[in-house]
Amino acid sequence: MTTEHPKTALITGANKGIGFEIARQLAKLGYAVFVGSRDINKGKHAAQQLCDRGFEATFIQLDVTDPLSIKQAAGTFSQKADHLDLLINNAGVLDDHGEDILKLNVELLNRTLTTNVTGPIMVIQDFLPFLQKSHAPRILNVSSELGSLKTMRAYSPAYSISKTALNAVTRQFAGALPGIAVNSVSPGWVRTDMGGRNAPLSVEDGAADIVWLATEAPRSETGKFWQNKREID
Ligand code: NDP
Repeated sequence: MTTEHPKTALITGANKGIGFEIARQLAKLGYAVFVGSRDINKGKHAAQQLCDRGFEATFIQLDVTDPLSIKQAAGTFSQKADHLDLLINNAGVLDDHGEDILKLNVELLNRTLTTNVTGPIMVIQDFLPFLQKSHAPRILNVSSELGSLKTMRAYSPAYSISKTALNAVTRQFAGALPGIAVNSVSPGWVRTDMGGRNAPLSVEDGAADIVWLATEAPRSETGKFWQNKREID
């Protein structure tokens, strides 16, 4: 790692959407970004786009549902950097748009939980040694307002339940890791493949609050669920 770019960030699901924009904004702030993507071609292309703009970006193949892929990603990371300042668990799926729990397919629920909940747990576990070598480590789990128990409606149950569980994961790691700021954050409703074209927010706006929480919020803030730079649940 060069001395000009001592800070490192790994973003899962960074080949497109909010994840790519988080990577772009962090790279612009001087972070050496690791672009996680389960797809080699998409991931390499995304990292190359950042390199072409003069940023320091490295592709890391990482499927958050595959324990071996995560371990291999940690091995690849260890060859490129000795510490990790920011881990952003951004990869996620929404496969039950608008359905209700009376018709919930439990296999779909399990698949959603595997990506949105088990995945971040495994990624944190395997990248923890690198986070513990950072002077100011942070973990951000990209959640959703649909995961808020205060405002949740009977809508997209698998996704909503998974994001509520992700917020619980945040609390658990925050309690277990007093030296690391661990938070959940909702980007709002953002125009991406997942959010659709009618969403009010651009990816730039959706990523901006996440980047604020990752770089500017006091590190004493931990175990919380944020939206619009304030705790919401
Ligand atoms: P996109 O669908 O545009 O991007 C999702 C990303 O996650 C893609 O890079 C996708 O990879 C990746 N991904 C999915 N499954 C896996 C996996 N098993 N392993 C690794 N990567 C995976 O969604 P957004 O950018 O909109 O969403 C990003 C995050 O923000 C998600 O966690 C989502 O729940 C959250 N969010 C989004 C909102 C919105 O309005 N857009 C609102 C609230 C929360 P691939 O290209 O290979 O499919």
